[in-house]
Amino acid sequence: AKSDGQGSYRFFEAAMDEKMRSCRKLEIDLRRALSLREFSLVYQPQVSLHTSAVSGFEALLRWQCPTRGAVSPLDFIPLAEQTGVITSIGEWVLRTACREAASWPNDHSIAVNVSGVQFAHPNLVKVVMSALAESGLAPQRLELEITESVMLDDQGQSLTVLNNLRSLGVRMALDDFGTGYSSLGYLRRFSFDKIKIDQSFVRGTAHDPAGQAIVRAISSLGQSLGMKTVAEGVETREQFDRVVADGCTDVQGYLISRPLPAGQIASFLDDGIPQ
Ligand code: C2E
Ligand code: CA
Ligand code: CA
Ligand code: CA
Repeated sequence: AKSDGQGSYRFFEAAMDEKMRSCRKLEIDLRRALSLREFSLVYQPQVSLHTSAVSGFEALLRWQCPTRGAVSPLDFIPLAEQTGVITSIGEWVLRTACREAASWPNDHSIAVNVSGVQFAHPNLVKVVMSALAESGLAPQRLELEITESVMLDDQGQSLTVLNNLRSLGVRMALDDFGTGYSSLGYLRRFSFDKIKIDQSFVRGTAHDPAGQAIVRAISSLGQSLGMKTVAEGVETREQFDRVVADGCTDVQGYLISRPLPAGQIASFLDDGIPQ
């Protein structure tokens, strides 16, 4: 029994070593990816239910690694945050999104995800200013998406950052709404332009009265507070009809379009939204 115990301990140790090595390797690959231009952005349209027109796009990061293939942001963003690499990646995302969106045919807004580490970095406001200046994008067209968890640490400091960003003229969206806690407190203290209702509520089945009640409640809250409410992750016509009935102002999801490479935006806008 004793040797069994040691054996499994060694096995555990070896597995930990292996895990650390592969994390370290991923970190090195991530740092290299930036200089080797392995990142790109795709853009997913949002549609206004009021006008039935495209209201804006969300920029989403893609990594084509030569050895791993396409890696999902869900798999590398957490490590990029832990190691701090997210600061340089996030800066690249901001500059690239502003530059690419500046040349689009209409004045659609462009939403960029900002991670907690980026949000806490003292340079954020400067980086946003310089991305706007070098691209010539009007500040009103840039929207920054942050999640509730971004603001947990120091609420006073978070409010200062939010207000500084707002004073540049950029818009602020609260992402994945409903999945964190203390969300309502933030809505009270800062007037976001947009609430993005998490996919988990939107994609509940037809027999999910609780999910639907939550979407309805968030929409009505948004309306009272003068904030847009975007239903995320709408995949089916049925979900679409439901979020319309529940009072959302905008919709985003595969039903409208998958995220598109920058080169396809102009033709997407020309062809109109498939009904
Ligand atoms: P998110 O910000 O909540 O982005 C929405 C995610 O849902 C995207 O996944 C999008 O492709 C996916 N999606 C959109 N419509 C549908 C749908 O109808 N059905 C389904 N099943 N999925 C849909 P993606 O691109 O894999 O990104 C995952 C997450 O990674 C994002 O969640 C965001 O948290 C993070 N992320 C992506 N790009 C960036 C970035 O540039 N910076 C940072 N900090 N995070 C990013
Ligand atoms: Ca987002
Ligand atoms: Ca989201
Ligand atoms: Ca999310």
